[in-house]
Amino acid sequence: MKQTRSTCCYCGTGCGVTIESQGGRITGVAGDADHPSSRGKLCSKGTTLHLTMTPAAMAGRARHPELREHRGEARRRVSWDEALDHLAERFAATIARHGPDSVAFYVSGQLLTEDYYVFNKLAKGLVGTANIDTNSRLCMSSTVTGYTKTLGVDAPPNCYEDIDHAQCLFIAGSNTAVAHPVLFRRIEAARERNPELKIIVVDPRRTETARAADLHLAILPGTDVQLFHAMLHVMAWEGLLDERYIAAHTEGFAALREMVRDVSPQVAAETCGVRAEDIVTAARWFARSPATLSLYCQGLNQSTSGTAKNAALIDLHLATGHIGRAGAGPFSLTGQPNAMGGREVGGLATALAAHRDLANPEHRAEIEKLWGIGPVPAAAGLTAVEMFEALRSGRVKMIWIACTNPAQSMPDLEKIHAALEAAELVVLQEAYADTETAPFADVLLPAASWGEKDGTVTNSERRISRVRAAVPPPGEARPDWEIACDFARRLERKLARTPQSLFAFSTPEEVWNEHRECTRGRDLDITGLSYATLDRDGPQHWPYPSGARSGTARLYTTGRFATPDGRARFHAERYRVAESTRATWCSSSRAAAPST
Ligand code: SF4
Repeated sequence: MKQTRSTCCYCGTGCGVTIESQGGRITGVAGDADHPSSRGKLCSKGTTLHLTMTPAAMAGRARHPELREHRGEARRRVSWDEALDHLAERFAATIARHGPDSVAFYVSGQLLTEDYYVFNKLAKGLVGTANIDTNSRLCMSSTVTGYTKTLGVDAPPNCYEDIDHAQCLFIAGSNTAVAHPVLFRRIEAARERNPELKIIVVDPRRTETARAADLHLAILPGTDVQLFHAMLHVMAWEGLLDERYIAAHTEGFAALREMVRDVSPQVAAETCGVRAEDIVTAARWFARSPATLSLYCQGLNQSTSGTAKNAALIDLHLATGHIGRAGAGPFSLTGQPNAMGGREVGGLATALAAHRDLANPEHRAEIEKLWGIGPVPAAAGLTAVEMFEALRSGRVKMIWIACTNPAQSMPDLEKIHAALEAAELVVLQEAYADTETAPFADVLLPAASWGEKDGTVTNSERRISRVRAAVPPPGEARPDWEIACDFARRLERKLARTPQSLFAFSTPEEVWNEHRECTRGRDLDITGLSYATLDRDGPQHWPYPSGARSGTARLYTTGRFATPDGRARFHAERYRVAESTRATWCSSSRAAAPST
């Protein structure tokens, strides 16, 4: 039996696993006791990972490239050369006729960082379009913007160890007990050690997590900003703010203080559907605790006011000085296994590599120099929902979908199906041939899956872990980064854009090394880290700059933030509600609520 150390591919907790394999087949999975994020623990999803590799489960795997010339025909099996030459020809012709923005790439937080890096470079560096977005857009873009607007960059301040140090846990929009069970076990252990630990849960639903709370604020859906502003109102009224921290390390508090003057607990109680005295209690516990840690997830993120919710919660931490210390800070929990890695390589329609901004000319110039290319796109590309809308209307002609299943997972599926029907060409790079998106694919490219590919992922606490192959992929399936590079080199020849290939990578480590170089001098600098260091010392937090001996577990400990003047920014944005949405949600939520 062979044992291979790797990382669970199911969620952003990023638990370490030891894969057991025999005769080229994965036979079992165990928790890796040496992985610092999970210390040997796995949830039921992680412990049953090997069941995705049984002969029955493998029956649905894509094993060979398939292609059809015309809609309505069945795809036929073809060689990799035929499939990729065909695609290079079609993409080059469409780009020549309709411009770079006539094609789009829809990728995934399930990709490894190396895969993500290559796709981003393919779109923005070679094709010259920012039309690359990801399923992570749907869950994490509010977090990215919330952190950037307040702290200066998309860098979560905390690490899992902070759960052990917190004296008050403020869990908002997250059913941690179910969605991040290994972290919830850590919360339970922290409470056992410290019965004084206060847990506040903000969630319209009476979840498993809410049942563990000392105070459950079952707010009406979408009213989070009003609740957070009322808490700030109480803190200001009762003198619970950290005025010294506000003065020394932040900007913009006067406007926010003025804005929340009229958001009293009574006003918010009416809006949020909770008791005013519970809002007061939450504010007191949050502010008076020696260390308050917020944990939040899709309840704040997947919302039309997601950025305002994220920023309003971060404001509470800045106003009370609960940030940059052990057990204190606003800590977003990522859902997908590598949403963080995608954010790091700039795999969004609005971003560039290493937390650079597409709209910033200096950032674009840095990437042009690093990649050795002409101008990268200056304008933002189409985001996930816009991309499919543009496909439906004919503005985008071709879409390349990798490692995700939009025909099943996007909102408003009728429109998504119509978009895929309307496309001139749908490329699907997938491990499985039987997904809901597969029937729409004109070209199916078989991809390696978990346990079959090498690379890295980053979890919620900014910790980079290695993912390793235990067995070879089935049939002719190949790793995602390798497929993208092979196509890119063929497209380079058709477009005759660059004298030297931008995609001369022969291993995922070479891809990662280039990604590492992009981070030099940035907030997420990992120039002191290597595959060899990860293999020797295990998973590491970023940043890990040259000369460091370990990664940085906790950020903003000096009170300096990644803004030009080093000060964090308060974000004063009033609570807003779409009345129709509110009415619908209120009635359904009330109907669904269990009686007490
Ligand atoms: Fe995998 Fe997430 Fe479960 Fe850990 S908590 S075993 S990463 S699904």
